[in-house]
Amino acid sequence: MNRSILSLTDVQKFVTDNQYEVNRKEKFFSRCIDGRYKNDNDLAPQAFPGGDLGELAMILAAGNSYGFSVDPQKALSALIKVVGGVKEFRFHTDHHADEKAIAGGCGHFKQINLDPKAFHLEEKDVDFMKKELAKIKKQGGQEIVLEGDHLEGAVLLVNGNWGVFNQGNLDTEMGQRFAEAFVYQQTFTNEKHRILAKELIKSKAIGFSHGEDEEYLYEALSDISEQHLMETAKRLAKGLPIYGIVFADNGSFQIKEQGNV
Ligand SMILES: [Zn+2]
Repeated sequence: MNRSILSLTDVQKFVTDNQYEVNRKEKFFSRCIDGRYKNDNDLAPQAFPGGDLGELAMILAAGNSYGFSVDPQKALSALIKVVGGVKEFRFHTDHHADEKAIAGGCGHFKQINLDPKAFHLEEKDVDFMKKELAKIKKQGGQEIVLEGDHLEGAVLLVNGNWGVFNQGNLDTEMGQRFAEAFVYQQTFTNEKHRILAKELIKSKAIGFSHGEDEEYLYEALSDISEQHLMETAKRLAKGLPIYGIVFADNGSFQIKEQGNV
């Protein structure tokens, strides 16, 4: 199947069909930005590159990039606490018919493996993530296997208290056509990172040397999140249109064209 690139009109229909109400208690449950998640009323709403594995990558990368020290084990514990326990730690693997599922290998994590430096990471960070992911799997972390080719036709940056599914049907002159989109849920991500920044400092997972504070850490996490999103989007789908979706609480929304990946 070919990718269907989403026009502004397509996005209007796609989001209308695909918006879903989020159970407040579950708003920090993560999934990847990956378009291959099937629509499901229980779909975890905080769409973020790599899910919680990507959250861990973000913390380690922020330390490397901004020059503060990170205790990786304490950072992971803080993250697990914020998501509500190891059984709520979410990640996915990819499966292709012609190869075995790649351990911890979602597209985002695969790109990190190929070129850690582009993500402000070092080999030791990648090794740490692999080792810990194996433990998390044994302890009952939530793994989802996604299958097939990537068919994403847009990047949706979602703001507001609504979830958006990744898959839908577009109207064309030839009838309905299947489409997928990368989804990044900015509002739930930011709220989660506020709490995460607090927890990272409280648990002494982060060591500042110049009197930086929680706000500084939050800004660093936000900056790295965006860099990780764009780095992976560029590698998986260069040229895709980016749309900002801003929801009001009643579910109405506005769309802004934000250029291309
Ligand atoms: Zn992924």
